[in-house]
Amino acid sequence: MSEAPHLTFDLDTPGVSKGHLVVPGGADRGELSLPVFSLNKGEGPRLLVTGGNHGNELEGPLVARRLIEWLPEAQTCGRVIVLPVLNPLAVQAWSRNTPLDGLNLNRVFPGRADGSVTERIADAVSRVLLPMADTVFDLHSFGPTWDFPPAATTHPIADLDLMARTVRMAEAFKLPLTLVWEYNDTAGMFDIVAQNQGKVFVCAEFGGGTVGADNLAIYEAGVRNALMALGLVEGAAEYPTFRQQKSGPTLETHPSDELKSPAPGIFEPRCSVLDEVKQGDLIGILHPMDSLSAESIDIRAPGTSIVFAIRSGAHVGVNEWIAAVARPLKIYELGADQPAPRAPVAKRSNPPE
Ligand SMILES: [Zn+2]
Repeated sequence: MSEAPHLTFDLDTPGVSKGHLVVPGGADRGELSLPVFSLNKGEGPRLLVTGGNHGNELEGPLVARRLIEWLPEAQTCGRVIVLPVLNPLAVQAWSRNTPLDGLNLNRVFPGRADGSVTERIADAVSRVLLPMADTVFDLHSFGPTWDFPPAATTHPIADLDLMARTVRMAEAFKLPLTLVWEYNDTAGMFDIVAQNQGKVFVCAEFGGGTVGADNLAIYEAGVRNALMALGLVEGAAEYPTFRQQKSGPTLETHPSDELKSPAPGIFEPRCSVLDEVKQGDLIGILHPMDSLSAESIDIRAPGTSIVFAIRSGAHVGVNEWIAAVARPLKIYELGADQPAPRAPVAKRSNPPE
């Protein structure tokens, strides 16, 4: 077996360091070198920022690169480590999963040293970088087939103190949506491995399959707001505007809040993300395309809620997810009487995350 995963520089070096995280080679390919930036200003919060977990979500790597440009002038204490591209093989292919082994990096954590390349990347990040951080921001997008607002997201966490700290961190991004998202397909996620080690982990999520200047500016402002809340940089928080809306309430969503396609076809949205809807309001129309005699089907809101995800691209099959709604967060009365977490629910199909 080849050498262990390692950094080509010492993270304890004061000031700026640039080098690589070396992911050893295996049976499927040789070693990978992932560019890493570190800025060590001594005592203070220890933050790890990662992008490119999924290869068709390109905003994260770009915001990470911007962070590297302005952080040396702005950071006043603590340590920030930035890894703009976790999975270069997927990013180069603009593919959610790694083409070489077909694996979703965000389902194989903590990885395996003797596994395929995706598992070796997860192993290197878990063993070399994760122990150096107390807080992790993983910069995602929602991918090319969805409309989704700029959001900071997390999942329900059994440790209610960590849950409260995580939600506060997510809210500090001051994005139009802060979302606690319950689903059970979480095995192997980067989030879970970090949270199991007591770390605060926030996913930033943006819609779209193409990168736009406006969205990048919102994304970057959100990350800067979070750095200010951590005390790593100074300044006044911004409240980014997205489609005339600013920072909104913290919402929760559950598997029952997903609206599924009743038939194969094309989904026509009749509302926008962040719209408030009441029971029976029209969210969209599913148009079967295999027969002109097949009637179009109205998709209506199940109750008073806020629409946060709309299928805006790609023909859908039956029972595929076409929209989702959320409600104000209440499963955890954070800081007050804390009810037990909800019982697990049935496994569902993969959300994009
Ligand atoms: Zn993603």
